[in-house]
Amino acid sequence: MKDRFGREISYLRVSVTDRCNLRCVYCMPPEGVPLLNHEDILRYEEILTVLAAAKKMGISHVRLTGGEPLVRKDLDQLVRGIAKMGFEDISLTTNGTLLANYAQILKEAGLMRVNVSLDSLRPDRFSRITRTGRVEDALTGIQAAVRAGLGPVKVNVVVMAGWNLDEVADMVRLTLELPVHVRFIEYMPIGPSEGMEELSGVPPDVIMAQISKSLPGKPEACIAPAGAGPAQTYRLPGAKGTIGFISALSKPFCHSCNRLRLTADGKLRPCLASGIEVDVKEVLRSSKQDSKMRKIEEAFRRAILSKPRAHDLWDGESQARRMCQIGG
Ligand code: SAM
Ligand code: SF4
Repeated sequence: MKDRFGREISYLRVSVTDRCNLRCVYCMPPEGVPLLNHEDILRYEEILTVLAAAKKMGISHVRLTGGEPLVRKDLDQLVRGIAKMGFEDISLTTNGTLLANYAQILKEAGLMRVNVSLDSLRPDRFSRITRTGRVEDALTGIQAAVRAGLGPVKVNVVVMAGWNLDEVADMVRLTLELPVHVRFIEYMPIGPSEGMEELSGVPPDVIMAQISKSLPGKPEACIAPAGAGPAQTYRLPGAKGTIGFISALSKPFCHSCNRLRLTADGKLRPCLASGIEVDVKEVLRSSKQDSKMRKIEEAFRRAILSKPRAHDLWDGESQARRMCQIGG
C-alpha cells in the first residue's frame, strides 16, 4: 500500500524483544532500560498473525530485530513460521555475539540473511563501546553467518567521533578478505539524551576522507548488494565486499523510506523519528476471531497513512524510546 506521499510501504521491521546482552553506549544507559513485562511482549503466534495481515497489505520484506533478537528463546520457530508465509526477504539484525550458535539453525529455518553490528575490531574498544561484549564473539558470529550462507552479510558500524572514526579503514579492509558489506551508520540522537551528550555522529564525507587517507585504492561507486536499503555503495579495487553509508541526518532518505516498525509490545511505528504509534496488540487481544484480521489490516492502514513526509525535526515525542525499545 502507498502512503500519503506515494511511497510504497513494503518493509516491516519486527522487534521480538527489548532485552539485550550488550549495553552499547549509543543505544542504552549502563544500567539498561526499564524492561517490558513478559505479558506485554507479543507471542510468536501473535507476531505471525500480524505478519499475515502485513502480507495482505503489501509487505514483502521482513527483518527481525530488537533489543537483541537472539536472546529470545526459540527464535528459529518464529523464523520457520515466517518462512512458510512466502515473503520475498527474511532477514535479521543482530549484535552477532550469539550468532555462532544459531547461524546454521536459523538458515535451516528459512532465514535468508543477516546484518551484524560491529563498531570496533579492537577487543578493548569493542568492550568499551558495548560495555560488556567480546569482539571475538561477534567476529566468530560473522564468520558463521558467511559459512551458513546467510548472505549478503552486512556489517553495521555506528561511527562516532572520538570513539571509532580512526578505525574505519580497518573496517574497509575487512571487505578485502571477506564477502561482507560494511555500512557506516550515522549516529542518531534517539531516546533520552542523558549519558549520551558526548556522542556525535560523523558525516559520510568525513568518513570517506579518513578512508582515502589510510588506504591506497580509492573506493569506487558500485551496484548495491541485495536488500541494500538506503546505503550509497562503493567497492575497493579487488575487494570481495562493499562499503556503504547510511546517513539519516546528513543525507536523509525519507523520500524513499518504505518501512514500518512493529515494536516488541505490539505498536506499529511509521517513523523512527516520530512518536506516532498504532496499537496492534490491543486489536490482537481484544478482537473477535472473525474480525481480527480486518482490524489488524485497518491498523496497518492507519499506520501507513500517518507516516510523516520526513523527519525534519526530532520532535519531543520521538525521544521517549531508545532504538533497543523501538527496534533498530
Ligand atoms: N541488537 C541488534 C544489533 O545491535 O544489531 C539489533 C537491534 S539494534 C537497536 C539495531 C541497529 O541499531 C544496530 O545496528 C545499532 O548499531 C543501531 N543503533 C542503535 N542505536 C543507534 C543510534 N542511536 N544511532 C544509530 N544507530 C543506532
Ligand atoms: Fe543491544 Fe543492539 Fe542496542 Fe547494542 S545496539 S545495546 S546490541 S540492542
